[in-house]
Amino acid sequence: MGYKLDFEEADRIFDALRDEFEIWAPKRFVGKGRYSDTDIIRYDQVHTAGEIEFHEKSDFPAKEVLTPITETLFYFTEDEYRASKETKKKLLIFMRPCDVHAKYHQEKIYLQNGDFADSYYQRMSEKVKVVLMECGEGWDTCFCSSMGTNRTEDYAAAVREDQGTLLIQVKDEALESYFRDCASASFAPSFVENNQLQVSIPEIPDQEVLTELKSHSMWDEFNKRCVSCGACTLACSTCTCFTASDIIYQENTSAGERKRTSASCQIKGFTDMAGGIVFRDSAGERMRYKVLHKFHDYKARFHDFHMCVGCGRCISRCPELISIAATVEKMAAAVDEITAKRSAEGGR
Ligand code: SF4
Ligand code: SF4
Repeated sequence: MGYKLDFEEADRIFDALRDEFEIWAPKRFVGKGRYSDTDIIRYDQVHTAGEIEFHEKSDFPAKEVLTPITETLFYFTEDEYRASKETKKKLLIFMRPCDVHAKYHQEKIYLQNGDFADSYYQRMSEKVKVVLMECGEGWDTCFCSSMGTNRTEDYAAAVREDQGTLLIQVKDEALESYFRDCASASFAPSFVENNQLQVSIPEIPDQEVLTELKSHSMWDEFNKRCVSCGACTLACSTCTCFTASDIIYQENTSAGERKRTSASCQIKGFTDMAGGIVFRDSAGERMRYKVLHKFHDYKARFHDFHMCVGCGRCISRCPELISIAATVEKMAAAVDEITAKRSAEGGR
């Protein structure tokens, strides 16, 4: 069913929903951006429709709700542990189509990667209902149509905001009762068909080309340009790496809590091992790892989609203006160069 409502009606519905749900959505934090007088848009709990930023893409993705940058997993003493408390409510999360697709990748890594399911992720993901936010025309760093993530039908409700009016499509019967007093309206979300930014994703035909690509000179550029800050991976909709650390309570050194904190493959030290072994010492090697992971390795492992959903958040966040879209185009040119060279050498 479709409905039309103003913010006042929406706020009454939010009040009713909050008995059952935490409502999470992108929210503007004025003056909290990284440069002076700039804002940041990130996920937070909202109580009113007016708090939601409908018309700009959030700087940080919806994954912030399920896997915050830092969280306590469990508390321990000498001989026992207790899992951290989880919210008792369900989670109603306002998401863009790219965020919905990113959630599939998160689920694959946390829940379906081998025999082990991450119970801390699972207990959160089971509570989620999605409210799809219509994107309009998208933004200049989006390339979701190149990644096939511009559309989804996987949502409980969808919303479009237009000058204080909300058009809502409700697909989940469990949510219908909240809207029974609202005016009916015909609404289904539209999707971005073609982004301004288009990216050609290269097919890497075999292991030999992959090996040559890994030592291609294109990666050297990043030794100078990338400052290894990790901002791109922190803002990435699909990155899942984290590190774990124990906070020990001073009075009793056997009691404390274990926290997990987002980690970045772009930061020096990420691959350090005992004995002084380092796998990716230069920024170029780390960039190569990230790009191939997003546009080759993940798909090779799971046999379905590339990991990147084309949200473009890493492009917006990079202080050195490094664009993953431009980097993938360079990679496509490098793959063509390697395969052409092979053909010229007799198709070996
Ligand atoms: S690599 Fe960049 S564009 Fe791709 S999902 Fe991550 S943040 Fe979005
Ligand atoms: S690509 Fe940009 S955001 Fe990512 S680590 Fe390098 S400088 Fe930082």
